[in-house]
Amino acid sequence: MSESYAFIGLGHLGGNLAASLIRNGFAVTVFDRDPTAVERLVALGATATSSPADAAARAGNAISCLPSPKVSEAVLAGPGGLLEGLPQGGTWIEMSTNGRDDIMRLAALASAKGVETLECPVTGGVHLAAAGKITALVGGDAALYARHRPAIEAMCARSFLMGPVGSAAVIKVITNMLAFIHLVAAGEALMLAKQGGLDLAQSYHAIVASSGNSFVHETESQLILNGSYDIGFTMDLALKDLGFALAMGEQSGVPLDLASRVNAIFQQGKAAYGGAAWSTQIVKLLEDAVGTDLRAPGFPAKLEL
Ligand code: NAD
Repeated sequence: MSESYAFIGLGHLGGNLAASLIRNGFAVTVFDRDPTAVERLVALGATATSSPADAAARAGNAISCLPSPKVSEAVLAGPGGLLEGLPQGGTWIEMSTNGRDDIMRLAALASAKGVETLECPVTGGVHLAAAGKITALVGGDAALYARHRPAIEAMCARSFLMGPVGSAAVIKVITNMLAFIHLVAAGEALMLAKQGGLDLAQSYHAIVASSGNSFVHETESQLILNGSYDIGFTMDLALKDLGFALAMGEQSGVPLDLASRVNAIFQQGKAAYGGAAWSTQIVKLLEDAVGTDLRAPGFPAKLEL
C-alpha cells in the first residue's frame, strides 16, 4: 500500500505539488491558513483538516511548502504543529526553500520527537510543478529517500539525492542565485536589443538559439515580452533566497560580487513595486529607467508546457 501524506502550504508551488500527488492516486490530507487554497485541493480529492497536527496524525507522514523558515518552524514545532500529530517513525518532507542552518536546526527538532526529515526543495518554476515535471533536490538518508521516492516522482520529473540533510539547501540556494543573475542579465540583453533597433521577438529567438541562452531567458523572457511578468514567484521569495546565498558566501569565504549586486537590484525592485510583485517584474526597473517597455506580440501571459 502506498504511503499517505499530509500537505501543508498550498500556495503557488505547494498547491500544484499536492495536486500532482492526488492525480497519482495518493491519499492527501491538507491544511493551509487560507481557506480558498484548501477548497481548491478538496475539489481535486484532498481531505481538509483543522490543523497541521490533525493532518499529520491522519496521514502518518507530512509534507510542507511554506514561505519562510520562521513559518516552517511554527508549522513543524509550534502549537498544533506537525510534531504533535506525526507518529514515531513518521517522516517530515520539507519542500520549502530554507537555508542550510535552518533545515538542520528544524530536522534536529523533528529527530528529538522520533520523526525523520527529508529535505526536498524543488527547482524549475510553477509551470513545471503544475505538470508534475519540476526537479527535486533531496537531502537526507538514502533509505528514507527510497521509501518516499514514489511520492517524489509523482510530483517531480527528476530528483537528485545530494547528501545528508542540509546539502539540498546548499544546491537549491546556488541554483536560485544563478536564476536571479540570469533574469537581470536577460532584461539587460533585451533592452540592448530594443535600443539597438532590433525586433524583440526575433531577438528572443536568436538568443534562445545562441551561446548566451539560459533556462530563465527561455521561460521568463516570454513573460517580460508579454508584459504579464506572471512567473508565480514573488520579489519577497527572491530576496529570501538571495539572502541565503549571501550568508552562505560569507560563511564559506566566497566573494559573491554578482549576487550582491543582484540582491541590491531586488531590494530596489521591492521598494518600487512591493514584495508581492512577481520577481520577473525586476526588469521593469530597467524599462522605467530607460523610459520604454519590452513588449512583443506572440508571447504567453503564463508559461505552459
Ligand atoms: P506562496 O506564498 O504562494 O504559498 C505559501 C502558502 O503557505 C500559502 O498558501 C499560505 O497561505 C500558506 N501559509 C503561510 N503561513 C502558513 C501557516 N502558518 N500555516 C499554514 N499555511 C500557511 O509561496 P510559494 O510560491 O508556493 O512558495 C512556497 C515555498 O516554495 C517557498 O519556500 C519558496 O521559496 C519555494 N519555492 C517556490 C517556487 C515558485 O515558483 N513559486 C519555486 C521553488 C521554490
